[in-house]
Amino acid sequence: ASRVPSDIEIAQSATMRPIRDVAMDLGLGADDIDPYGRYKAKLPMSVTSAPPRGRLVLVTAISPTPAGEGKSTVSVGLSQAFRRLGHNAILCMREPSLGPVFGVKGGAAGGGYSQVLPMDDINLHFTGDFHAISSTHALLAAMLDNHLYHGNALGLDPKRISWPRTIDMNDRALRQAIIGVGAGNGMMREERWVIIPASEIMAIVALASDAEDLERRLGNIVVGTTGGKDKRPVRARDLNATGAMTLLLKDALRPNLVQTLEGGPAILHCGPFGNIAHGCNSLVATRAGLALGDIVVTEAGFGSDLGAEKFFDIKCRFGGLNPEAAVLVTTVRSLKMQGGLPKNALDVEDLGALERGLPHVAHHVRNVQQFGVPVVVALNRRLSDTDAELQMVADYVATLGVRVALANVWAEGGAGGEELAREVLAELAEGTAAFRPLYDTARPIREKITTVAQRVYGADGVDFSAAAEKSIDWLEANGMADTPVCMAKTQYSLTDDPSRLGVPTGFRVTVNEVYGSSGAGFVVAKCGDIMTMPGLAKVPAAEGMRLRPDGTIEGLS
Ligand code: ADP
Repeated sequence: ASRVPSDIEIAQSATMRPIRDVAMDLGLGADDIDPYGRYKAKLPMSVTSAPPRGRLVLVTAISPTPAGEGKSTVSVGLSQAFRRLGHNAILCMREPSLGPVFGVKGGAAGGGYSQVLPMDDINLHFTGDFHAISSTHALLAAMLDNHLYHGNALGLDPKRISWPRTIDMNDRALRQAIIGVGAGNGMMREERWVIIPASEIMAIVALASDAEDLERRLGNIVVGTTGGKDKRPVRARDLNATGAMTLLLKDALRPNLVQTLEGGPAILHCGPFGNIAHGCNSLVATRAGLALGDIVVTEAGFGSDLGAEKFFDIKCRFGGLNPEAAVLVTTVRSLKMQGGLPKNALDVEDLGALERGLPHVAHHVRNVQQFGVPVVVALNRRLSDTDAELQMVADYVATLGVRVALANVWAEGGAGGEELAREVLAELAEGTAAFRPLYDTARPIREKITTVAQRVYGADGVDFSAAAEKSIDWLEANGMADTPVCMAKTQYSLTDDPSRLGVPTGFRVTVNEVYGSSGAGFVVAKCGDIMTMPGLAKVPAAEGMRLRPDGTIEGLS
């Protein structure tokens, strides 16, 4: 096969349409949008509250391996394919964080001939949403420490401050730090930084339905507790921070319109990670898509155990969304890894390893089906896949009674996704979806966590650390328990141990930490050793990047 150029080469040689033309296709005039340059625009809030007319399709995946699944690539390619078939499809995705861009994973704008543009802007500063979110987070942190410095009238216990600091970078040195060192520099205390996709402000902007709801949620943020015996929650509104915080977010709340490589509309907005946060683009972006298009393709982070579960149990529940089909992305290479092959052995045909990996697909298919949403399996074709391997996966998926299609969108763009698009359309035409969340939020916190661990991960049960037990009791005593749970767990395994691939059985999940995100409206349960601040790899992707003298970019993917 001829060489497919790199992602950035393809992106830089594409001819983009002016963004006002993309908007015009959606029935929006030049006065409706706020262009950020020629190829990006903010959508008006009015479209986020217009009645929905589109049908919602989720793209999820099996558990990721270093072999790569290509969930974003398939999402972009599928939306391109729907448009080629004459549907007014709109893609809704998250905005990338600089952490993964400069770390190992690369950006999140798709790949090959299925990308969103302008890829470089999207991966770098885009329309400044993350800067606004980061500044809003910093404002609350600064007002909190200022309050401690000026006498602490609210009686906050400095040892029980739960509001962290944030930065959009993988920087392990900031996981635990001491701030306020030196005379006159405020209270000396321990502090921790979380990466911006783990900031509660990110989750709040992603879940707010309008500016008023945003302000209410910001006010509800719990920054810490009072001291003494009663330990009452202290909130952002007690610090009088909410008005200024909302102000900083007034434009960040509006979804961003860009385009795919084939010139179709893509709405990119917010970027909570799927392992340490709820993993979906914003509710207002999805609502805008549903109001403006007839099919919305949206993506949720990592495997169905993380992104899809939280898409259903958190985002769809809060937003009253009705997902009607899901696409489960898988690759031959990653299934061979699930079947025990090491990364350096994936290029040659190995039907034995592939066969051992297949039950992993079945587990993820059942995960989605139990939410009442029908699944189509997308086999993202890689150049090294053999016909026998592709056939083996297709035959196996057929035995599950599920539709399957080859997706060749990386190499061919939308044309390579038409078979997949037709299968999804057939599923939508059958109309068998009956979406329901997995649990009732009124159930006790321990029960909700256990339900997810047993029914989605396949665990025998859950062990709670002493610290987790204490915080659950505190949340329940303080009226903060009647919410969904946001599970934070490694993306690499169905268990909380990243090294256990395939479909492990006979395991328990350990919940080490539980805390309330009262602004976002959920309770976070951290399983195993999950970090809210990643580190960079020994050789970060950043080392291979540069700006050439002619203004083009090298090394961004
Ligand atoms: P995910 O969303 O699952 O993290 P992405 O869609 O971002 O994955 O893809 C990760 C990387 O893999 C990208 O650089 C993309 O270009 C590449 N990729 C995706 N699909 C294919 C494919 N079929 N063949 C080769 N490379 C691919």
